[in-house]
Amino acid sequence: MTESENDWSEQARCRGLDPDQFFVRGAAQARRAIAVCGRCDVKEQCLRYALDNAIDFGVWGGLTERQRRAYQRRLLATAS
Ligand code: SF4
Repeated sequence: MTESENDWSEQARCRGLDPDQFFVRGAAQARRAIAVCGRCDVKEQCLRYALDNAIDFGVWGGLTERQRRAYQRRLLATAS
């Protein structure tokens, strides 16, 4: 990854927070992480990064890993 590809992370709402908050265990923790993402200005870039890099764990772009898999399946279904 080049520096410019990761520039969005400078504006991340989660910057400075404990990363463990985004590698969630359970629905309550997921809701808290997703709430932070909901106020993040770089949510779309974060989600794109997670999808492009096949990141399997954690909340990225406001979606849990399960939600990202479902989102990607919908994208693929729409594209075909
Ligand atoms: S969308 Fe969520 S995980 Fe991604 S940078 Fe923003 S706050 Fe962090």
